Amino acid sequence: MNNALLLSEKIQSGEIKIADVLNEIFSKPDEYNAFISLDKEYAFKRAGEIQKRIDSGDIMSPLSGVPIAIKDNICTADFNTTCASKMLESFRAPYNATAVERINAADMLVIGKTNMDEFAMGSTSETSYFGAVKNPLDITRSAGGSSGGSAAAVSGGFVPLALGSDTGGSVRQPAAYCSCVGLKPTYGAVSRYGLIAYASSLDTIGITGNNVKDVAALYNIISGVDKKDSTSQNCKAVNLYKSDLKGIKLALPYKMISENADSAVLSAFDNAVKRLEELGANVKEIDFTSEALLLPAYYIIASAEASSNLARYDGIRFGYRAQGDSVNDIILNSRSEGFGNEVKKRIMLGSYVLSSGYYDKYYLKALKAKNKICSEMSEIFKGFDSVIMPTSTVIAPLLDESLKNPLTMYKSDLFTVLANLCGLPGVSVPCGKFTGLQLIGKPFGEEDILNIANIFEGAKNEF
Ligand code: GLN
Repeated sequence: MNNALLLSEKIQSGEIKIADVLNEIFSKPDEYNAFISLDKEYAFKRAGEIQKRIDSGDIMSPLSGVPIAIKDNICTADFNTTCASKMLESFRAPYNATAVERINAADMLVIGKTNMDEFAMGSTSETSYFGAVKNPLDITRSAGGSSGGSAAAVSGGFVPLALGSDTGGSVRQPAAYCSCVGLKPTYGAVSRYGLIAYASSLDTIGITGNNVKDVAALYNIISGVDKKDSTSQNCKAVNLYKSDLKGIKLALPYKMISENADSAVLSAFDNAVKRLEELGANVKEIDFTSEALLLPAYYIIASAEASSNLARYDGIRFGYRAQGDSVNDIILNSRSEGFGNEVKKRIMLGSYVLSSGYYDKYYLKALKAKNKICSEMSEIFKGFDSVIMPTSTVIAPLLDESLKNPLTMYKSDLFTVLANLCGLPGVSVPCGKFTGLQLIGKPFGEEDILNIANIFEGAKNEF
């Protein structure tokens, strides 16, 4: 059940019936608040259709029959898509996101939609209108965010795979906190059609799973060009062919890591580096000079784009509508009542940095900073296959702590925002309790980083 490829094999050989898998899933209570919606009736109906195809010997995909959960900011025609917000509490999209279409076409089975930070803004899945997600490894801790529900659904044993979205770390970081593998693909590798926008230039649909092979298999299903997303591109299928790390060059920005990671993260990371070296990798320390630009650039650009993207929720066209005496009052009241505090904060910050007089001072400056960061990364990749870092600066925080201290929470994104600002692929693979090793790759270098992650994962218990 935990291994998607193996589960599909057993389903396809007739050893396991999909209905039995579903019975197991639906017999468990959702103690982690991982789901916003679950639809048993729909799941069994789909299971019947897929089972029929399997029994009649139709050609299937490597993940046929496997149940999957979808983050609740990815549009699905068969489930509501709420973005964990009162604003979209009863929103049903009339279409499926392209990634969901591809999942359905591969005969995987969507069982429900996962909880998250409201509109994917947050790092702990505590800003959800539907309550916080709990970490299955320790329910007093956060499952991370914003795709905390997807990580909890996988780590809690409900589904072997889930989709999330990653704008500044939201797939990788919850994966690290919940001992899962989390992949943020290259910008453009997976169609964003049907992903409700937070910050369009940074948003990506990503994958959470229990192991690298499963994640790679799902990546091969959902990636590739889509005419509904003009930023999507063709990309080659990932093949996990490597058996060791000989000749692999890894860049280690150690000063930045040691100055920012807490002690539990650092000691797990140091061990991971040793393991990578033992496996044959050539790890070399580098100086990452743009470090101070990362968080300011990310939070300015993300908020600016969010303020513009979220302008569409006016209570008139769709979403929550409040009472009001005039159109202006309806808009004002709908937005005031429909959005939570974190979302309002980002909208205000974003409107501020885009307003005339401040545009040059903040937004334009953030774009220049982003360019500088990306040039530095391009230089680094001339000599290396991947840059390694911990996934988060901290281990999974205790619930109810982070929102009291938002600046500390924002700072914990330091190691993940880099990949989004530069559109690069990143994968997090567990390297200790509540923490992960992150590998960042070249554009469309998913195959490189997933091969490294796969070898690291396989060797983990041998040391
Ligand atoms: N924590 C970051 C933010 O709040 C990243 C969120 C995400 O990747 N969706 O913006």
